[in-house]
Amino acid sequence: MKNKDSSKNCFFIPLVSESQIRKEKQKARELKKTRWWQRKCAPGICYYCGKKVGAENLTMDHVVPLVRGGKSVKNNLVPACKKCNQEKKYFLTMEWENLKKQK
Ligand SMILES: [Zn+2]
Repeated sequence: MKNKDSSKNCFFIPLVSESQIRKEKQKARELKKTRWWQRKCAPGICYYCGKKVGAENLTMDHVVPLVRGGKSVKNNLVPACKKCNQEKKYFLTMEWENLKKQK
């Protein structure tokens, strides 16, 4: 019998090859230089915790992490403070929020 919730426990299955990730990281680096990204960071506010940390302290975060099949496209990239970026790592936003609730 199949358990429909079994996907919840599959956090660490790599979906993407390393060369694919390298390519997406390169794309992200290119996007960082654009005005679009500068405008996104200008308010200096973290997408996740909503704290004002200043544009220089924001990092580029993939909402759907690259290792989970996310792409370096504009609607998958948000400014995050270093703390959130580090905590989130390879989780999907939903998973991360569930994790925080459990604490
Ligand atoms: Zn944050």
